[in-house]
Amino acid sequence: MDLTFGEREEAFRAEARAWLEANVPRDLPSGDTAEGFALHKRWEKKLYEARYSAVSWPKKYGGREASLVEWLVFEEEYYRAGGPQRVAQNGIFLLAPTLFEFGTEEQKDRILPRMAAADDLWAQGWSEPNAGSDLASIKSVAVRDEAKDGWRLSGQKTWCTRGAFCDWMFGLFRSDPSAERHRGLTYFLVPLRAKGVTVRPVGRLDGDAGFAEVFLDDVFVPDRDVLGKVHDGWNVAMATASSERGLSLRSPGRFQATAARLVDLFGRYGDNGDPSLCEAVVRAWMDAEAYALYTLQTVSKLAAGGTIGPEASLNKIFWSEMDVRMHEAALRILGPHAELVDGAPDAIDGGAWMKGF
Ligand SMILES: Cc1cc2nc3c(=O)[nH]c(=O)nc-3n(C[C@H](O)[C@H](O)[C@H](O)COP(=O)(O)OP(=O)(O)OC[C@H]3O[C@@H](n4cnc5c(N)ncnc54)[C@H](O)[C@@H]3O)c2cc1C
Repeated sequence: MDLTFGEREEAFRAEARAWLEANVPRDLPSGDTAEGFALHKRWEKKLYEARYSAVSWPKKYGGREASLVEWLVFEEEYYRAGGPQRVAQNGIFLLAPTLFEFGTEEQKDRILPRMAAADDLWAQGWSEPNAGSDLASIKSVAVRDEAKDGWRLSGQKTWCTRGAFCDWMFGLFRSDPSAERHRGLTYFLVPLRAKGVTVRPVGRLDGDAGFAEVFLDDVFVPDRDVLGKVHDGWNVAMATASSERGLSLRSPGRFQATAARLVDLFGRYGDNGDPSLCEAVVRAWMDAEAYALYTLQTVSKLAAGGTIGPEASLNKIFWSEMDVRMHEAALRILGPHAELVDGAPDAIDGGAWMKGF
């Protein structure tokens, strides 16, 4: 097994590193408030102008046709330079792979360039007040409007990340109430500013309005905004969920950068009198490296024509738990200082660890 990167990848790394070091914004506030979101949108546009917003996409949609390995290299450099979490991620990393698989040419041409340019930012509309883990129990409906060649959507979605600020939402609706639960669902692309849509922010524990409830009252959506086949939405949604779990949502670069910050924090503040903290820091670093190697293995498998299978679900559990453990270790290092948030005179690193946790 050859674990070194090639010449082309290293050249790409050097180019991306130089650009990111010169351009990554410092001290960008949380993207989960209206003001913060606007600043993040500006950053997304800057990434797009340098053709770094979606590096692996075809050029005609705003990408640079980078390979998956180059995409990983870019992600590593992005987080190494201190780049912020991407407010465009639902579109670029979840909906876009699904559009590439199921979208029509018209949909790709219309949607992808605006997504890459952060002209349209996307929210996910799966969960409902009585449908969470059991997604197939959703009750929101889509009723056919033959006269207008489209559909009328009604119901309620909830926990839409950054939904209060996004322009569009993708999600599942019950289009055939007589079909079995997992059948009779259709995947729709819904403009959040359409007539009949009400978006209400939901305050999070940290005070940011990071989530939204979306109420739909007889909202018209034309046929061209159905993704995949009518009544086949479950299959299309599983492709989106498998991108979330499998590869595209959480690149290892983000966790390697978090591990590096954790090692730095430990270097500055020590073990706070608790020798087991050193072990937690070492484990965080090893987990991030293991995740990076595992991801490279997945990419090699995809490059050889393979597909991501059910292991994607284990992958998601692994990174979710690793992320929590890393932040817990940081909070233990900080001790009582952990609770000082941004703006407090003695807050360490702007209270970022508690916010991240
Ligand atoms: C940070 C974050 C961002 C999110 N963003 C979005 C978003 O953008 N769009 C969106 O649509 N949703 C989003 N969600 C919602 C998320 O997808 C739901 O929280 C998830 O589907 C779980 O549903 P629930 O919260 O209703 O919990 P429930 O499904 O009610 O589960 C509650 C508990 O019961 C357990 N449980 C459930 N079913 C079973 C079973 N059959 N057997 C045993 N135990 C079971 C679960 O493990 C859990 O512990 C987000 C959630 C989080 C935390």
